[in-house]
Amino acid sequence: MDDRDGKIWMDGQMVDWRDAKIHVLTHTLHYGCGAFEGVRAYNTVNGTAIFRLREHTERLFNSAKILRMKMPYAFDEVVEAQKAVVRENNLESCYLRPLVWIGSEKLGVSPKGNTIHVMIAAWPWGAYLGEEGLKRGIRVKTSSYTRHHVNITMTQAKAVSNYTNSILANMEATDEGYDEAMLLDSAGFVSEGAGENLFIIKDGVIYTPDLSAGALNGITRNTVFHIARDLGLEIVQKRITRDEVYICDEAFFTGTAAEVTPIRELDRIELGAGSRGPITEKIQSAFFDIVNGRNAKYAEWLSKV
Ligand code: PMP
Repeated sequence: MDDRDGKIWMDGQMVDWRDAKIHVLTHTLHYGCGAFEGVRAYNTVNGTAIFRLREHTERLFNSAKILRMKMPYAFDEVVEAQKAVVRENNLESCYLRPLVWIGSEKLGVSPKGNTIHVMIAAWPWGAYLGEEGLKRGIRVKTSSYTRHHVNITMTQAKAVSNYTNSILANMEATDEGYDEAMLLDSAGFVSEGAGENLFIIKDGVIYTPDLSAGALNGITRNTVFHIARDLGLEIVQKRITRDEVYICDEAFFTGTAAEVTPIRELDRIELGAGSRGPITEKIQSAFFDIVNGRNAKYAEWLSKV
């Protein structure tokens, strides 16, 4: 990943991809206090545009705030830098990865006095859980790892350190032949996927865990709320049990990387008809219309680069 052509925005400069380096004594590398985002740009009918750029940038700033890291750049600078990275790398569609980290001035647990840094990289990235997964649905395992409790790590921050939990859950699930993990919260209720929010559908109503289950406030999750409203479907945020998922009619994951990915199996139990459900398909299709600029109602969610 480090050996390729292109530019990475690093602390205000466009740096050659291979030269975008940090010191091994970087504080974040040792203690995991850092914040990041995952953003996508689509090759829309009106040209390349970044989807919900302001919302992603707001979440990045909020994550930094929660982690007590003072952002060294203004909001609009970070917005413009993301557009510039897509342009500089001549990307038609891509994934963007902004990251905020703490510098290497000193290495006690306390980062007080250390500098804060920002970088933004972008590269082409297809369907996160596979093209086949988008069509047929994926196979998911309930993780043996519990999702973070809301007062252990800060679950509304997209914090670097939160992802050790995601990595363990994903590796466990994929080692056992599944596509992704579903994590329960510390009380045993459904929280989210390793890198996705979860939705189930039962008798025409859509349910998703409320954020007190430790799930990230996903921007795709919010997009699905808008889509459901447009389709006249009810969405309820509530505590969900693992067995409610077993007996749902349809289920899907959402995320910037995962987009809208149907779930066809949980713990080897077929969900509904065991394929992409009809409501999921409608939501997925509405989602791809929006991100590709085919729904004028949401034109303001697409920032041209
Ligand atoms: N939960 C977790 C743990 C994630 O990493 C992500 C991906 N950012 C999501 C949910 C989905 O969030 P979004 O739709 O904003 O990408």
